[in-house]
Amino acid sequence: MSSVATSPAFRTSASLTIGGKAVAGASSFDVVNPATGEVFASAPDASPDQLDAAVQAAAQAFHTWRIDEDLRRGALRRCADALLAAADEIAPVLTAEQGKILRESHREFVGAAAWLRYYAELEWPSVIVQDDGRAFSEAARRPMGPVAAITPWNAPIYIGVAKVAMALRAGNTVVLKPSPYAPLSTLMVGEILSELVPAGVLNVISGGDALGPLLTTHPLIRKISFTGSIATGKSIAAAAASDLKRLTLELGGNDAAIVLDDADPEFTAEGLFSSAFTFTGQACVAPKRIYVAESLRPALVDAFVERARATKLGNGADPDTDLGPLNNLPQRNYVVELIGDAVASGGKVATGGHVIDGPGYFHELTIVTDVDNGIRIVDEEQFGPALPVMSFHSIDDAVERANATEFGLGGSVWSSDPERALPIAKRLEAGTAWVNTHKVLAPQNPFAGSKWSGVGIEGGPWALEANTESAFVYLPR
Ligand code: NAD
Repeated sequence: MSSVATSPAFRTSASLTIGGKAVAGASSFDVVNPATGEVFASAPDASPDQLDAAVQAAAQAFHTWRIDEDLRRGALRRCADALLAAADEIAPVLTAEQGKILRESHREFVGAAAWLRYYAELEWPSVIVQDDGRAFSEAARRPMGPVAAITPWNAPIYIGVAKVAMALRAGNTVVLKPSPYAPLSTLMVGEILSELVPAGVLNVISGGDALGPLLTTHPLIRKISFTGSIATGKSIAAAAASDLKRLTLELGGNDAAIVLDDADPEFTAEGLFSSAFTFTGQACVAPKRIYVAESLRPALVDAFVERARATKLGNGADPDTDLGPLNNLPQRNYVVELIGDAVASGGKVATGGHVIDGPGYFHELTIVTDVDNGIRIVDEEQFGPALPVMSFHSIDDAVERANATEFGLGGSVWSSDPERALPIAKRLEAGTAWVNTHKVLAPQNPFAGSKWSGVGIEGGPWALEANTESAFVYLPR
């Protein structure tokens, strides 16, 4: 393991952004660097009054922001440029508070800028339904008002900025709230982007656990755009019900990968290992359960083990580091619990299996075998560096076990014959199914969870539908 013990060479304070102004929090809370376990900064804790001021500012700004689509598209272009220009300054903050390696932090900025650009350029005309001697009618869309955008700690810039891009292009205004486990980088991005839109169009607030429910129940919020766990998603859906706020929920996943007997073991191992352990396993659409043809299982397990042992864990700020720590202690404890349960249920640990002693929330990259559906590490979302590998008897068996879950975010099928894999991929009950890859995301693609993994779609014109409501006009002739 590597360590970087010097004091931070980056900004460690950030403001709330409310009504176009940088505002200090009513109080503050600690931000911990998960690579050291030490508090390295504090973040503003918005009071209920500050939250209300942010929503009021968004409601006020909505009156004019909704009008001029060209102005909105121009603003998104400028936001994309500004975000990229800020990457060098803010990526180290993201690494310090989130734990991911610096290269991945940079990639979040590049990926997020792509969402801004995409929604700046997307043509999205209304539909003329009828235009003849009897009538003219048009199916147009109307923005809704202030959107509450709530994000998790694993990819706060990518997810937060994508939500901002979709909502702002549609003509809504935004109150963005990052997770208390990684608030600073989002606040800093908010400070920069809010300068490029009229005051109140983009507000960013941070705070403790009480803030989320206050935001989702605020009467002026018209839509909630949430990414996070299934448990929180369900409580948000309940909170939204009382005044029928619109919802987009991007929730947890437990993606299955099915590896057919003709797959290339090295290619498949490389693709699955790198996507399963991205962000040290803390990615929503990572493969989290592998079902492999029995003939290929030993070779695949060996290839995973070899890669896990060769991966250098350490402080993400160190350029020699391959992967960082878990983001927080409860998450590491959860991974430990799942591995312990797997072993107690007869599972075997092919490599890893232990917490890494020393500062920070590190855990060995772990491959678990001899488990099956019905054991927690297979049934639950581990969201950490522990990957169960199982074999299957037939394609039907693999598909049935892959689908035997309430999760439905993503999945993949691996084969040297993509034509053979594609119909199997289509049988996966997931919002996205890949062939010979996993976790490829892009703003033009519909990203959605099936079953408990989500409600609604992000990406493409579908997200603009979700950020607007129907405004049909009919004119008899
Ligand atoms: P979480 O649900 O604990 O928290 C997410 C956000 O919701 C945070 O900002 C948190 O402060 C806020 N929050 C918590 N309780 C709330 C409430 N009652 N009302 C309103 N807001 C509330 O999730 P997390 O631990 O930060 O993130 C990990 C989870 O996110 C995993 O399940 C992962 O799969 C999921 N995730 C999903 C996607 C996706 O696109 N589907 C992407 C990334 C992460």
